[in-house]
Amino acid sequence: DRTARRPRVLLLCSPCMGHLIPFTELARRLVAHHGLAATLLFASATWPPPEQYLALAASVPDGVDLVALPAPPPEALPHFAHVRDRVTHAVRASIPHVRHVARALSTEAGPLAAIVVDMVGAAPARGVAAELGVPFYMFFTSPWMTLSLLMHLPHLDATSSSRVEFRDPIRLPGCVPVHAHDLPPSMRADRGSDMYAGFLAMAREVTGVDGILVNTFRELEPAVGDDGMIVNGVTTTLPVIHPVGPLVWTRPVLGGGKDRGRHECLMRWLDQQPRGSVVYVSFGSGGTLTLQQTAELALGLELAQCRFVWAVKRPHQSSTTGAFFGSRQGDEETAALDFLPEGFIDRTKDVGLVMTSTWAPQTAILDHASVGCFVTHCGWNSILESVIYGVPMVAWPLYAEQNMNAAMLEVQVRVAVRVKFGDDHFVTKEEVAAAIKRVMNGAEAERMTKRVSELRERSVHALSKDGSSTHALAQTANKWKCFANGK
Ligand code: UDP
Repeated sequence: DRTARRPRVLLLCSPCMGHLIPFTELARRLVAHHGLAATLLFASATWPPPEQYLALAASVPDGVDLVALPAPPPEALPHFAHVRDRVTHAVRASIPHVRHVARALSTEAGPLAAIVVDMVGAAPARGVAAELGVPFYMFFTSPWMTLSLLMHLPHLDATSSSRVEFRDPIRLPGCVPVHAHDLPPSMRADRGSDMYAGFLAMAREVTGVDGILVNTFRELEPAVGDDGMIVNGVTTTLPVIHPVGPLVWTRPVLGGGKDRGRHECLMRWLDQQPRGSVVYVSFGSGGTLTLQQTAELALGLELAQCRFVWAVKRPHQSSTTGAFFGSRQGDEETAALDFLPEGFIDRTKDVGLVMTSTWAPQTAILDHASVGCFVTHCGWNSILESVIYGVPMVAWPLYAEQNMNAAMLEVQVRVAVRVKFGDDHFVTKEEVAAAIKRVMNGAEAERMTKRVSELRERSVHALSKDGSSTHALAQTANKWKCFANGK
């Protein structure tokens, strides 16, 4: 194998498809364009790993060794543990395997050039990098704006007057002001809570790595990296920031045999629809709405009288991340669609497709000329994919930093309309229809479409041979190669 003796990067990714997808593309680029070899470890939370992991693993090119590490025993955590706890637990439990692989690689394969982790892996894997004395980098799979917030958090925490929660807008250099209600749930939580403490601890870890690759590009987030951070009148040294995005996995991540047939059907259906006429609705790999909200969204799509493809998830009453570790049995239940309003499927059968497979071929859908609007939960990968394929959005944030992403998209980037939440965070069918219409018809829609097409071109340029993101990754790769070659 021509890559066997090359300096090798070891990447560790937490068990979220939203991290694994950009990590895989990062690994592919390091191997294909930057003369490195890559081993990508996936810290599984469930065993066997999810179907979509297996489908992705089947499409990984030669030269990238993707390995799923054994999941910790299910009894080690209570079943109802929060997604974040399960993810963190899986990464912590993976560390002995990571250490073993790292040692074996550094003695048997080419020299180890760097260890790259996501934000979850920073604390647990630091020791492994230190033991082996290799550069320790983070690949940040959320926007620069979130990273900037994390880097400012220790200082904000120490100086903010409110003891309970943050109330005033937070002004991060070059970003839209972050209003209190748009902060990630962990920062809206009581500052005495475990949730907040965990977030603060993660924020402190961020500045302890040698460098950070961010999945963004300058034309989308112009302030990326030039945030001279001033704490108590002193400029603090931050890790070097490299915008290397937008990195998304555009190879097909298709499910098994049954899904493949469904996906082909979907593509044929899209082929028959007028250009830019279809609304794609998806809340990411695990996002869920309540039963009432799911039904209301259905009625909203009907009211908008639009064509649509809806990657529907079974409702969850108490969690917005209810499908993150979904089971096969859950899929079969979803397929019954008994949670949709009576007669909905029948009434919309000529204009809409409700997809019940675990995994929609999202990039292929967004790439299709018939798709003209994406109703999204504002996961960062979904946003980048929408930008790459030039599709304006209806922003319907659910969890993590998604409210901030929605604000950025609407106010700064101006390629999305944000849904208005009413009492109890409920979005009415009228509001669903109104937001879709704003993105699909009229002068505002035209402006958004034009703007997102321009961004699309800039994203292509950022990743071209002479583009800023390619250049940033090349610089980092060179540093790693020099280290590995002892220079
Ligand atoms: N995705 C997909 N099909 C699905 C659901 C998700 O291909 O049915 C992909 C999507 O294209 C994106 C990733 O999974 O690359 C989800 O990442 P994102 O950051 O948007 O959201 P998350 O699920 O991590 O909250």
